[in-house]
Amino acid sequence: MENRVSFYNTLTKKVELFVPNEDGKVAMYTCGPTVYHFAHIGNLRSYICEDLLEKTLRYVGYDVKRVMNITDVGHLSSDGDTGEDKMLKGAKREHKTVMEIAKFYTDAFFADCKKLNIKMPDVVEPATNCIDEFIHMVTVLLEKGYAYECGGNIYFDTSKLEDYYVFSNLSEKELLVGVRDDVEEDTNKRNKSDFVLWFTKSKFDDQELKWDSPWGVGYPGWHIECSCISMKHLGEYMDIHCGGVDNIFPHHTNEIAQSEAYLGHKWCNYWFHVHHLNDRSGKMSKSKGNILTVSVLEEEGFDPLVYRFFCLQSHYRKPLEFSYEVLRNVAAAYDKLVKKIDGLDQNGTVDQEAFAEYKERFTAALCDDMNSSMAITVLYDCLKAEISDATKWALAEDFDRVLSLNLTTAHAQKQETQTVDAQLEEYVLSKIAERKEAKKARDFAKADAIRAELLERGIVLEDTREGVKWKLQ
Ligand code: AMP
Ligand code: ZN
Repeated sequence: MENRVSFYNTLTKKVELFVPNEDGKVAMYTCGPTVYHFAHIGNLRSYICEDLLEKTLRYVGYDVKRVMNITDVGHLSSDGDTGEDKMLKGAKREHKTVMEIAKFYTDAFFADCKKLNIKMPDVVEPATNCIDEFIHMVTVLLEKGYAYECGGNIYFDTSKLEDYYVFSNLSEKELLVGVRDDVEEDTNKRNKSDFVLWFTKSKFDDQELKWDSPWGVGYPGWHIECSCISMKHLGEYMDIHCGGVDNIFPHHTNEIAQSEAYLGHKWCNYWFHVHHLNDRSGKMSKSKGNILTVSVLEEEGFDPLVYRFFCLQSHYRKPLEFSYEVLRNVAAAYDKLVKKIDGLDQNGTVDQEAFAEYKERFTAALCDDMNSSMAITVLYDCLKAEISDATKWALAEDFDRVLSLNLTTAHAQKQETQTVDAQLEEYVLSKIAERKEAKKARDFAKADAIRAELLERGIVLEDTREGVKWKLQ
């Protein structure tokens, strides 16, 4: 098939035409969430942009297999090898086990993804499922002389590589920001940039999850999981690896080091990185605590798809600053857009020539380094054009295969919800009035029965000084 998608490859530092290893097929890997807390909307920006890439590839005809890990062990508070294990920290905070925390936040993550119309990857694999694979890779790296044992831990020896800093020509000092920490330096390391493949004897004595290994009871480092999980499901050659820009160093740098040392050949050709969502205080991050979640946006009255629309209007390679003010404007624009589409008469004939022309413009925008805001402009252009309503409707439906904004269904759905809400309100208010009458007539049994009837439907009554109030349970 014709290759026409291009995007910025962090490895070559250029926008490049994407050519997969196998014609028409794409092997794609995404670093999944560390499930010790809710994903914040910054994390979800990365997943929305990755979803856009996957759907663009599918839209132009590729058969994509996408794999995602779930980090449920080994990710320490600093992205280097220091600090506490994030999962353990989460478990302590909530007085639960690590596995309980992992299950809860994995489910919460995919619930958020669903609300944002982010497609579920074809394979989702928790790190704790793959301990044998990790042990195997570490064993081979030791045999090949790329790894060493010191103080009970197994380290990757970065000095064995000709070019460890594959992504950047920044000085080592600048790059070491990710492994720098205020806690004591690991004196076991031969080189400052070496990283842990397997922990045994370390200061993390209270680590809850431990496994037997040839080097003693312990647990894997964070980086090894992505190398092993991707190879397990996608084989030795990968087309695209995705993540947020904070993962470039040390995580992705270390993934490449250990994967290529293990395989003895190049591993992944294209690296797709999404820039950060910031708020006024800087990068949104779970550890800084300045996080906003999908639920918070919903509580503030926003449809999660408004957030998706907000993300799609900016370029994935530019930092994006979040503010409620901007989000409110985006919400108004979204409502107007879906209302306009809902008002189209779908029953006419589709003008095939116009359809093809706008589809081509839309595709070209996406193929040009994922220019999603331009793709949205094409949508607005077609809605303004002198073409039949049926053509506009067909185009909106087609573009939504990539944009995933419920363009043709959102408005009708909203109206349906509003009708249901109004009917419910009417019903409850009539019951409250009936109960008031019963109380007035001192028929308390009837009043109680009405309260019970409502409760059975999940409606709770509250007697307050201002009168009876109601809410859904
Ligand atoms: P984590 O759950 O911390 O492992 O991160 C999950 C994904 O979110 C990774 O791809 C990170 O690079 C990405 N990420 C983290 N913080 C942000 C942010 N503020 N904006 C965009 N992406 C982010
Ligand atoms: Zn990863």
